[in-house]
Amino acid sequence: MDNTMLLQRLHKLQEVFTDKEAELTALDREIGDGDHGVNMKRGFNAVKEKVTEGSIQDILKQTGITLMSSIGGASGPLYGFSFVKMSEAAKGEIDVDNLKKLLDIFAETVSAKGKVTGGEKTMYDVISKAGEVLGEDGALKLEDLQKLADDTEDMTATKGRAAYFKEKSRGTVDPGAQSAVYILNALSLEEEE
Ligand code: ADP
Ligand code: MG
Ligand code: MG
Repeated sequence: MDNTMLLQRLHKLQEVFTDKEAELTALDREIGDGDHGVNMKRGFNAVKEKVTEGSIQDILKQTGITLMSSIGGASGPLYGFSFVKMSEAAKGEIDVDNLKKLLDIFAETVSAKGKVTGGEKTMYDVISKAGEVLGEDGALKLEDLQKLADDTEDMTATKGRAAYFKEKSRGTVDPGAQSAVYILNALSLEEEE
């Protein structure tokens, strides 16, 4: 993946999050404050507007900074800082090995910043397992990622706003796990048909 393709994919997330706003809002209404849809849409509207050129490293870094400054809420700093950290390890073109490395950094950054581990019903449950569903060709398929998000349905939240719902958080897919599906799919080296 070269810089032009990365930019295209990140810009396409603006459309994706516009389409998925209602879905993410509905999930966050169940176990949060109902703003995750609008947060992600606002974040990627800003990315489309502000991140328009540069190397892979520049694009990832500017995306991170833009997400941090435009998304209010827990997800902004987590996604934003992760993109900044990924930019530091990105190569001139992203190949499968480099993508593996970026996924590791994405997971490490969320874990460190969110003080989160697996099974706490957050975006981390999808991000930390993305390497396991990464194809040999670098594909990160929507349906594989969706299964990881669906696994959060039976978990009890112990981090973020959803933790206030305790046992009642069970039965709903975590909103951040769902948004992570779309973000990771945008990094796929294979286009889905
Ligand atoms: P807020 O909860 O502040 O309204 P959002 O609704 O935008 O922010 O994002 C909520 C999502 O952020 C959750 O669904 C969860 O996936 C993620 N999240 C919240 N706190 C943490 C944390 N400590 N570690 C990892 N992810 C977290
Ligand atoms: Mg929220
Ligand atoms: Mg909020």
